[in-house]
Amino acid sequence: MSKKIQAIRGMNDLLPKDSTLWLSLERTILDLFIAYGYQNIRTPIVENTDTFCRAIGGTTDIVEKEMYSWTESGGESLSLRPEGTAGCVRMMIEHNLPREGIQKVFYQGAMFRHERPQKGRYRQFHQIGLEVFAAVDAKADAELMMITHALWQALGLKNIVLEINTLGSSKARAAYKKVLVAYFNQHKDQLDEDSLRRLKTNPLRILDTKNKAMHSVISNAPKLMDYLDQESAQHFEQFKTYLDALNIAYVINTRLVRGLDYYNRTVFEWTTTDLGAQGTICAGGRFDGLVEKMGGTPTPAVGLAIGLERLVLLLEAQNLMTVESTLSIYLVALGEKAQLKSMQIASVLHDALTNVILYNDLTLGSFKSQFKKADKAKAHFALILGEQELNNNQVSIKPLKGQGTQQSMNLEEAIKYFKGNK
Ligand code: ATP
Ligand code: MG
Repeated sequence: MSKKIQAIRGMNDLLPKDSTLWLSLERTILDLFIAYGYQNIRTPIVENTDTFCRAIGGTTDIVEKEMYSWTESGGESLSLRPEGTAGCVRMMIEHNLPREGIQKVFYQGAMFRHERPQKGRYRQFHQIGLEVFAAVDAKADAELMMITHALWQALGLKNIVLEINTLGSSKARAAYKKVLVAYFNQHKDQLDEDSLRRLKTNPLRILDTKNKAMHSVISNAPKLMDYLDQESAQHFEQFKTYLDALNIAYVINTRLVRGLDYYNRTVFEWTTTDLGAQGTICAGGRFDGLVEKMGGTPTPAVGLAIGLERLVLLLEAQNLMTVESTLSIYLVALGEKAQLKSMQIASVLHDALTNVILYNDLTLGSFKSQFKKADKAKAHFALILGEQELNNNQVSIKPLKGQGTQQSMNLEEAIKYFKGNK
């Protein structure tokens, strides 16, 4: 027997029953971003592997072990995008966009990482991200916090904390790295295997470990904050001043270094304790050197990405799954003539009503079975077309929720009725 076909581990289907919430969540996010003056961009899911390696950094988890890569017949190595910033920066450079002035953009879509699947961690997952190019001031960093803060409020989310840190300039970081390496070398016995390896490749990443056993060696480590260059210190102060002015609470987490190589100065994560180990729902920071590193003219940049699966899990955990329901009507029709007429009525109703869901019955079954389908669709009303209605040139409306009684009327009155019921 041939093997049963099924989805790849860690890559999920979105079922019809779950899609209403996803769509409403995505709409809320995208509408908010548009309201803040950001514009949508779309880049390919596949890029040259080198685009990601150069952007993300060769010593990161993503590039070391999480990328889906393959070689084309011509020898070229391509990869599925593990994140959205690399493609976005590539696009900015290729189309010379920052030359036209500050760019405020957002992207959305599937990302791919070969990780161990678990709750809140998948191999195909979805991000919506914001990026600002050519704005050096901390006002840009603060605007991103303002937008995400507004989003959590719009969604009714609670128990989310903003953690911030600064990574300083690359020069300050190089000086700090030396001190850090010396410290960890003195405490090698407390490092796990992964960290011993990182001590050689990317020592700052040790601070980002998820290993609880290393908690004390990490918390006693020297802090980058004490090695900051003056401009970065000032930038961080300015960032905090903006957050205070906006009444956005934050905690400074000096161990926050983020998984990716490209950050400098501001880094941040919005985290929650409601999702276990996968508690970061949104993360990002400043990456002033990346555009130049990827071959463009030096252009400061700052951005973030929201993990949609984790946001959905959090909405579930906090019982915020309710989606505001639009008026919905199931068109019940009995007999051949009524089928035709109900389709004509559907098209008239679509023209007359905005924000309505109309279900055409396709079972062509009995009244009873059509009403069952109407209930299953959770329609607010049944609009009934039987022999009697056809003869009287009327329709009957039956409320399917609450107490209302069935009434017959002509189509114009029915439109008024539905408009009044919104
Ligand atoms: P983590 O430390 O949890 O691995 P990360 O630092 O790798 O996260 P980023 O690359 O910053 O994550 O991605 C931004 C956001 O995308 C994360 O905060 C998270 O919400 C989401 N995310 C990242 N990886 C996954 C994944 N494998 N499955 C689901 N969501 C993810
Ligand atoms: Mg990761």
